[in-house]
Amino acid sequence: MLSDSKRLRRISLCVVVALLALGLPVVASAATAAPTRTMTTPTPPHPPFSPPPSQPAPKGLEKVTQTSLVQHIQHVTWTVSTAGGLQPAKLQAQGRRICERWLKQTGKGQGGQVCLGGPEPGKSAARLFYSSSWNGPLKPITATVTRLGPDQVKAAFPPNQAGISYAKPVRSQVISAEVPIAKCEASQPAQNCQQTTAFTTTAMHVPVPVGCKATGAPFVTNGPTNKREVALTFDDGPWGAPPSMDFVNELAKLHVPGTFFEIGDQLNTYDRSGAIERAMLADGDMIGDHTWTHPDMTKLSAAQQTSQLESTANAIKQKTGGFTPCLFRAPYGAVDRSLENTARSLNFTTIQWNVDTRDWSTPGTPSIVNTAVNDSRNGSIIIQHFGGGPRYQTLAALPQEVAQLHKKGYQFVTVNQMLGDPTIYR
Ligand SMILES: [Zn+2]
Repeated sequence: MLSDSKRLRRISLCVVVALLALGLPVVASAATAAPTRTMTTPTPPHPPFSPPPSQPAPKGLEKVTQTSLVQHIQHVTWTVSTAGGLQPAKLQAQGRRICERWLKQTGKGQGGQVCLGGPEPGKSAARLFYSSSWNGPLKPITATVTRLGPDQVKAAFPPNQAGISYAKPVRSQVISAEVPIAKCEASQPAQNCQQTTAFTTTAMHVPVPVGCKATGAPFVTNGPTNKREVALTFDDGPWGAPPSMDFVNELAKLHVPGTFFEIGDQLNTYDRSGAIERAMLADGDMIGDHTWTHPDMTKLSAAQQTSQLESTANAIKQKTGGFTPCLFRAPYGAVDRSLENTARSLNFTTIQWNVDTRDWSTPGTPSIVNTAVNDSRNGSIIIQHFGGGPRYQTLAALPQEVAQLHKKGYQFVTVNQMLGDPTIYR
């Protein structure tokens, strides 16, 4: 038997492995483990079952005593309690089912449902199953199912795994039933083989990145070499040739994230409203600090270095409506130990690179593509530019770079994802 803590560890490990296997950003799960700020207000539990708890549940049905559905940043947590023991594996084995089901978030009618179920053969962790309709086939989804006590189970899952949008509230209820429900209904009155709670509403919000946490080494030139990942980084913007939004849109079209190192002094000229930066964060790109005026930082005093870093970080925070960067790229790659220490004292990791496309010298799109593709290894940080001169060649290189690196088996991540430094959401 595994102890609960070992089992929990195994479950969370499984979730991370599953996320990796699905190519999903592991930062999604890391974010929940890391210190986070949450603005979620707990919703009150669902009202008790009808008929009220004083009446015994029909024989064979689990009598649900309390349940709640709450968004916790990137996950939805469903908690359910029953009278007299709740074991997902036993439920499944005995042909009974406890599910949370919801109405369509847009329009009318039935939406999907998630149901508790037993572990896969040879494993110990209970699972969560999803169906896109109230009587469709159930398939296991990525979720962490935890027994909080003999009568209570908690299931946390990314809502997009269950077809739930962050953007709209969820109207849901719990159903406790014998299965298959259709057969049950044919043989006896429905209320004898299924019970439901009243519908309640769970408020949802789109998680917003508010920062990231610098951990590990204060200075890096690449990420772990045991993962087939690369990070595209872009320096010296925002800029107008081409407009930086073109880079953001191109990466979105290619379904890969980028890490943009921005010069504070250029924000008011090229992204006055902050719309470009908010678009970066909304579609999974990362923003880093490239100082206020792009000086050789090693020639400045610690106080001047701090001012360069903080004024830029503050401007980014103001433009994005609350995002604080944790990645710093030194202009010209000029770094010494004292600059690294200053940056780390301000919660930055100093990010160098190990693949240089030399795109700033406008060597032609084919040259940029070839360097990025041929020089990349596991954990490579690729430097390119989205400002400081005409960057049309760089923009034009992106589709081919991404296609060829994908073909070689690389996944694209932001620099902080690569380093295992979680993005913090609210
Ligand atoms: Zn630069």
